[in-house]
Amino acid sequence: MRATRPASFAHSISPISLHNYRSTNMKIPFVDLKAQYLSIKSDIDGAIAGVIGETAFIGGHYVSEFEKRFAGLYGVRHVISCANGTDSLYILMKVLGIGAGDEVITVANSWISSSETITQAGARPAFVDVHPEYFSMDESLLESRINPRTRAVIVVHLQGQVCNMDAIGQICARHGLILIEDCAQSHFSEYKGKRVGLFGVAGSFSFYPGKNLGAYGDAGCLITNDDALAEKCRMYANHGALKKHQHQIEGINSRMDAIQAAILSAKLPYILDWTAQRIRNAALYERHLAGIRGICPPKTRPDTKHTWHLYVIRARHRDALKEWLGRQEIETVIHYPTPLPALPAYRYLGHQPSDFPVASALQQEILSLPLYPELTEEMIVRIAAAIRSFYADHAHAL
Ligand SMILES: *Cc1c(COP(=O)(O)O)cnc(C)c1O
Repeated sequence: MRATRPASFAHSISPISLHNYRSTNMKIPFVDLKAQYLSIKSDIDGAIAGVIGETAFIGGHYVSEFEKRFAGLYGVRHVISCANGTDSLYILMKVLGIGAGDEVITVANSWISSSETITQAGARPAFVDVHPEYFSMDESLLESRINPRTRAVIVVHLQGQVCNMDAIGQICARHGLILIEDCAQSHFSEYKGKRVGLFGVAGSFSFYPGKNLGAYGDAGCLITNDDALAEKCRMYANHGALKKHQHQIEGINSRMDAIQAAILSAKLPYILDWTAQRIRNAALYERHLAGIRGICPPKTRPDTKHTWHLYVIRARHRDALKEWLGRQEIETVIHYPTPLPALPAYRYLGHQPSDFPVASALQQEILSLPLYPELTEEMIVRIAAAIRSFYADHAHAL
């Protein structure tokens, strides 16, 4: 089963004028959720209609079906669905007993969920700088952040780029630390042939619409091969009860909607193809961006499968380039404009930019280009040409 490309938007225009239209006017959005919807419209519409037809809105067989299918495809014993990929981290913190007096280490460049859930559990976040070439956690700096209060490490496979799991796993084992993987941007990424989320006690996933596997609203899950941990997480996410009205503990309400579960199940048959298309598109970018002076395309860590949630280049005159691309109707985003420790929320930790020299320097240079399965080579060529012309014709005047 292969997702077909969305129908051409203007079959009536001759090939030559169509080409001109595309290369001059057509907007290239940063993500195009509509294109993917149109390519599997009948699957999605059928899934939604099924849930409404049964008025089975919360829990029930659509949710357990998705959990079973995702577990089978991913190769893990337990998938515990929840409301979003922030809750999945929070549930893990609580169930693992992380709280007041504890420290949890994570990475300086991520989405705030990776650190705010540490604080929500009552613990204190500690940040490690990012790797200068691979942008995710720099494993060589991890040990220096460990102290007697450190309980756990949350690694983030940012952008789909896998962290050095041999090194990080060894450090956690040596210091008796719990290892948690934030896989919100790295569904199906691999380290030495093994999928992310399977290296520590559990992996946390987001199905936010723009993620590599996205619902049509908020959704998330955690995965684990540990039977006891799985049961505790399932209980905690459902008001502390495995059976209705039998609350063993107090928990939270973090359920996946059945509509989201049905949509995710409908997408599962395509996800490996979509992932392959992302990888193909990253390779096309690498080819078409080659030799442009002024940018540095991303590298993939050896022995890993990078699944390209984001395609992040480093660019000289980044802000001017972003504006230039915007004027050519090419939408780009910065992930993220501020390293976590520099956010107002973490001022109380008293960090200086020099504490995280790589994350602080990257902040001025990083630019995420559009990358999704439905992006065509023609669009990639147009984006590369626009970047090339910026440096050839304009950047010298800056
Ligand atoms: C998206 C994301 C999350 C949070 O997921 P939500 O489903 O939006 O709550 C957590 N960590 C990272 C790295 C993310 O990119």
